[in-house]
Amino acid sequence: IDYTEGRGWHDATVQPYGPMQLDPAAMVLHYGQAIFEGLKVYRQPDGSIAAFRVYSNAERMRRSSRRLAMAELPDELFVRSIAELVEADHEWVPAAGGEESLYLRPFMFSTEAGLGVRPANQYRYVLIASPAGAYFPRGVKPVSVWISQEYVRAAPGGTGDAKFSGNYAASLLAQAQAVEQGCDQVVWLDAVERRYIEEMGGMNLCFIFGSGADAKLVTPELSGSLLPGITRDSLLTLAREAGLEVEERKISVQEWESEVASGQITEVFACGTAAVITPVGTVKSRDGEFTVGDGEPGEVTMALRDTLTGIQRGTFADTHGWLTTLR
Ligand code: PMP
Repeated sequence: IDYTEGRGWHDATVQPYGPMQLDPAAMVLHYGQAIFEGLKVYRQPDGSIAAFRVYSNAERMRRSSRRLAMAELPDELFVRSIAELVEADHEWVPAAGGEESLYLRPFMFSTEAGLGVRPANQYRYVLIASPAGAYFPRGVKPVSVWISQEYVRAAPGGTGDAKFSGNYAASLLAQAQAVEQGCDQVVWLDAVERRYIEEMGGMNLCFIFGSGADAKLVTPELSGSLLPGITRDSLLTLAREAGLEVEERKISVQEWESEVASGQITEVFACGTAAVITPVGTVKSRDGEFTVGDGEPGEVTMALRDTLTGIQRGTFADTHGWLTTLR
């Protein structure tokens, strides 16, 4: 769907996957106005197809557009684009009962040809779909993380809470370092004090303190420089419903390490659309390393995972109206 100032959104089409034409002076190639979203569509036990929290993705994309001075796509167009693509591609939605789903990638970028630095007045919104299996090939085995002390992903007043392509470009070097260090993922610290946990590459983080009836979930507060994950938001709701105390606050690497050592932090997991919930095991930085848990996913982690995936796949009641039936 294209946007031109004055004319608004127009020319919606569904077409076979293939290359797109772009003017060499398209402003996205020079000034980087590019945002995206990620969400999943699940086959339900009755054969229908439903999207998870599609209105939350629509709203987050509008927020990202505003931060990047781009045109805003109305929610009804966002949802309609998904319904129409899924209608055309419904055979690609994997069967119910497995780990698979259809991943959707909505994105938007500036198409106006121009060499001056200013907000563009032409944009294109595109939606592509790809069947998705388990995100981490090792399944729900704990991932290892590298704490990046050298680079930051986002700073106060920056673009960290928008799903802006540039945030990901800026994170690639640290992610490559994490891999060099033998870790699966990078964990970002705040830009000011370089002490507080922000998020993992592509996922938010949650810390479980204590266990059983006394378990508490602590997650970094939305500082303005981390992405407000929709999975994070869903899990905070489900955790409260399960009777866990939930705290959104600052948590430092030092607290993470010392509370693991004291036995207070019993489980840590990362959460996001792609991998849903993944336990975090080994934590490594220039200062050394420590390990959370015994190499197996924790009880609270697995219980929350089962509840969330059950709602997404239609085996648990969707009491929050998170599913939108598309077909
Ligand atoms: N943080 C970042 C940087 C991400 O890219 C994502 C994935 N969108 C998340 C967190 C998790 O967000 P969500 O639960 O909405 O997928």
